[in-house]
Amino acid sequence: MKILFCSSEVFPFAKTGGLADVSGALPEALEKLGCQVKVALPKYRGLQNKAGKLGQNIEVYFIENEKYFDRSGLYGTEQGDHPDNLERFTFFCQKTLELIKQADFKPDIIHCNDWQTALIPVYLKTVFANDHFFNGTKTIFTIHNLAYQGLFPRDKFDQTGLDKELFSIRGLEFFGKINLLKGGLVFSDFLTTVSPTYAEEIQTLKFGCGLDGVLRGRKKDLIGIINGLDTKVWDPQNDDKIFQRYGEQSYADKAINKLGLQDELGLVADQKLPLIGMVGRLAEQKGMELVISTIEQLLDLKLQVVILGTGEQRYHLSLGELSKKFSGRFSVNLRFDEMLAHKIYAGSDFFLMPSFYEPCGLGQLIAFKYGTIPIVHQTGGLADTVSDYDPGSGVSNGFVYHKNTGAQMLKAIARAQELYQRPQQQWPELIRRVMGYDFSWDSSAKKYINLYKNVLSGRQN
Ligand code: ADP
Repeated sequence: MKILFCSSEVFPFAKTGGLADVSGALPEALEKLGCQVKVALPKYRGLQNKAGKLGQNIEVYFIENEKYFDRSGLYGTEQGDHPDNLERFTFFCQKTLELIKQADFKPDIIHCNDWQTALIPVYLKTVFANDHFFNGTKTIFTIHNLAYQGLFPRDKFDQTGLDKELFSIRGLEFFGKINLLKGGLVFSDFLTTVSPTYAEEIQTLKFGCGLDGVLRGRKKDLIGIINGLDTKVWDPQNDDKIFQRYGEQSYADKAINKLGLQDELGLVADQKLPLIGMVGRLAEQKGMELVISTIEQLLDLKLQVVILGTGEQRYHLSLGELSKKFSGRFSVNLRFDEMLAHKIYAGSDFFLMPSFYEPCGLGQLIAFKYGTIPIVHQTGGLADTVSDYDPGSGVSNGFVYHKNTGAQMLKAIARAQELYQRPQQQWPELIRRVMGYDFSWDSSAKKYINLYKNVLSGRQN
């Protein structure tokens, strides 16, 4: 089967969040299972690891345009989104289709991801509807985060090159604006999102971001497949970014990573204090507000907190202030730093994700692999992967709370702290259990292949 995988970020070339992890790892897993895969991504400035290959033999098409992509910021800068994002990603979609035609690469499936690639299925069903080259090609569209939709003013619709009639309620119109994501949702042959719970949630008013009606309309063509982890990148036994490698049997060496991290970040070096890590985009979704508003009570629980993240200015400001006030106990690192991220996953005892919604979440999966126990709000992919601690169950793996308030979050953290302080077998048992999980891509990639086959043969999923 021939697959073209289109994404606006692909690890190790360009990354702002989980989409890059998925786009770097899933194509490789598909290749291992026998697919012929190619990947398309914009050629941004300073692209890392420029050699255009992934896996054994996956060619990466870097879509080039100096004017659009040779600048800082994938989607924008601190000042906001790039004002010409519609032109930029229209170009990306058009050029990608042009390129595979030139290269005579005729994919069975074009797998698109998020709004930046959403025009591809639209073009295939409209502009290229009668083009023999794309005759047998089907499109899959994966929603990684429904809140990011690619909204633009209606007067820019011409820039898409689409017939004016498509700016309508059945097409790309959304409350008077252009909504690229909606185009993807309407015109793709099949839709997926990154966890079964999120697949249900996005069909509700609360989580639907205005598109729940569209998604309910396509209920039959929508499933959730949980993301995997790239275990070449995320494995404490084989991680050259951390202070000391360790595995299930040698998990006690995790303590060396904790001390190393405390030392590097200027936290009081104390093994008895549980260390809570957070790594993620500083966006409202991620619940940073809850941490900021309860930080004093949180630190009163006799623990330490480290945050690594970048994003909205308001969080940069308040977190910066608080870290000064609570230095030695609260470490705030406002940047994108792959190396420090690895050290935090390895050196923390707990990993906190108070997300208001979370399509899949990779943080908790990485944390498992590093024997770091997640504390999460029960939503989306967090609900599908983390189960609340129950000493007798033998399967529970973290701390889960239901209503995303500061008080509920603190309660869960207090329970976690209590377990940590208990000098019993339960804590090491829990660590070994989560480290033993297999969250590699194998099983999820098989689900995608199954789906591709069903879509190509017109079978029900
Ligand atoms: P999202 O896709 O919503 O950003 P995920 O939990 O799915 O969230 O994935 C986040 C990914 O990005 C993880 O690999 C995480 O380690 C990484 N990440 C996020 N912020 C940073 C940062 N400031 N520095 C390094 N890695 C980061």
